[in-house]
Amino acid sequence: MKISFSLLILLITKILTQTTDEVIYSDEEGFERDIQPTPPPPPVPQVLPNESENNSSDPSANNVEPSRFLPIRQIYGEALIRGAPGVRGLIYFINSWNGVGIHGIVCGLRPGNHGFHIHHYGLTANGGCDAAGPHFTLYRWNHAGPTDKYRHAGDLGNLKVEQNGIAFINQFNGQVTLMAANNTILGRSIVIHEWPDDLGLGRKESNITGNVGKPIACGLIGLRRDKPYLPINCPPPNL
Ligand SMILES: [Zn+2]
Repeated sequence: MKISFSLLILLITKILTQTTDEVIYSDEEGFERDIQPTPPPPPVPQVLPNESENNSSDPSANNVEPSRFLPIRQIYGEALIRGAPGVRGLIYFINSWNGVGIHGIVCGLRPGNHGFHIHHYGLTANGGCDAAGPHFTLYRWNHAGPTDKYRHAGDLGNLKVEQNGIAFINQFNGQVTLMAANNTILGRSIVIHEWPDDLGLGRKESNITGNVGKPIACGLIGLRRDKPYLPINCPPPNL
């Protein structure tokens, strides 16, 4: 009986030891799993604020093939105005999603109103302002004012010249763009004429030219590198 009791104690001890071993074993297994080194997080590319537009073209961002095109940035245009003696100006163009802002200064003009428009063609070497051709338009609509719905896209109305011979330009044209499109004004020209524009309300050539007479100054519209400032002074004569 005593032996049987000892055997029983031994058996129970053996069972407990085995159970404990199993628990320890599984704990060790889990512990080993936990201490496996976790992979380091993927490196976060350091992007400067002004380079955030390049995120989509970063080949390490994902497996998408990087774009072959540079991101589209703000587009600016500029036209240096020259013509009759003493007349000079700078006109800037700022592209937006629904048109082009036109801002500038023209100096040396006779006080009063002068019709001015964007004409169809750029300026060639010997053609002067006459090389600009007709008012820029995509449709067979008559000449009109800048606020009319049906007009030439290049109709800008009148340049109001003060007694000091200076005119400031601050307006918006919702029918043109500086981007590559049919209605782009890049490579075209902006022309200032000798007489006021009757905005299509007069006689004779009113619905074609606005009876503005001859051109007295003009400029070729090109791309500008930097954001333009709002001009408040006449451009220097040597510009
Ligand atoms: Zn017109």
